[in-house]
Amino acid sequence: MTLLLAADEAGIAQAAALLRAGRLVAFGTETVYGLGGDATNARAVAAIFAAKGRPRFNPLICHFPTAEAAFLHVVPTLAALRLAAAFWPGPLTMVLPRRADTPIDPLVSCGLDTLAIRVPAHAPARALLAAAGVPIAAPSANRSGAVSPTTCAHVLADLEGRIDAVLDSGPAEMGLESTVLDLTGPPLLLRPGALTEAALQAVAGPLGQRPVHADAATGLRSPGLSASHYAPALPLRLNATAAGPGEALLAFGPAPSGAALTWNPSPAGDLTEASSRLFAGLRSLDSEGQRLGLTGIAAMAVPGLGLGAAINDRLQRAAAPRR
Ligand code: AMP
Ligand code: MG
Repeated sequence: MTLLLAADEAGIAQAAALLRAGRLVAFGTETVYGLGGDATNARAVAAIFAAKGRPRFNPLICHFPTAEAAFLHVVPTLAALRLAAAFWPGPLTMVLPRRADTPIDPLVSCGLDTLAIRVPAHAPARALLAAAGVPIAAPSANRSGAVSPTTCAHVLADLEGRIDAVLDSGPAEMGLESTVLDLTGPPLLLRPGALTEAALQAVAGPLGQRPVHADAATGLRSPGLSASHYAPALPLRLNATAAGPGEALLAFGPAPSGAALTWNPSPAGDLTEASSRLFAGLRSLDSEGQRLGLTGIAAMAVPGLGLGAAINDRLQRAAAPRR
């Protein structure tokens, strides 16, 4: 049974009590819904991996109500402190060396000597993190490899019966995961996300780019960034100008009519609007498309600037050959 909790005072208190008791609670943030568990509790952390079917080499992000609470567990660099001052609370995840004395379970970072930390901006999430009073490990609240959830309904579709509760705080405003930055050396962009590269560069200077398709299998730096991820069940075709026979259309901007099924995350071609509606669209085209007997999803091109970089990253992974 998965409890559905309203994001009011009572619901947040109940969710926090469940987290402190080592149970799993999904909760909304400004990026996507996260699947939270007490990061200092080895059984809770193991349960997160089990509920998602997540490979044990893909580390989790730890969430905190304040930067002060987050920096207790890592060795911050000057760049990290400046980035925190500029962008926290917000959709930025920083990878830093773990402190030797942190009580955070080693499985959170899959035995790496680093830890990914974030302070979300969403008010109910911050209230929950403050009430829980322990670091909360929270990957996206979807089955591993699937499209990230931006609503409570998405979470239930993937994880109902596998987790203890969901705190429903409405649709995620941004709809794309946090930007992940490795600060163990010169700043390195591990995952483009809801905070744009231009905004980061204004504070951190030029960013190094992660080698394409880096993952644990190839021994590279961000184990979770597999080529195939965020994937609907139906195959995705990129750079389409229209839907072919049997295809649903993931449109962007002015779109051709005539597809059996279309989702346009932003008819006006606005990247902020499109990113907030992208995952809901992929989920909807996937389930409706299968119901209608369609055999694929054709995705129109999105300009690669600003949030478009993160959107294209997600679409490329959704289209990549499945493992
Ligand atoms: P998610 O499952 O959406 O929360 O994704 C978290 C992302 O952060 C994954 O791509 C992880 O590989 C990445 N990540 C978490 N911890 C670390 C770490 N210590 N070093 C590098 N990447 C990390
Ligand atoms: Mg994820």
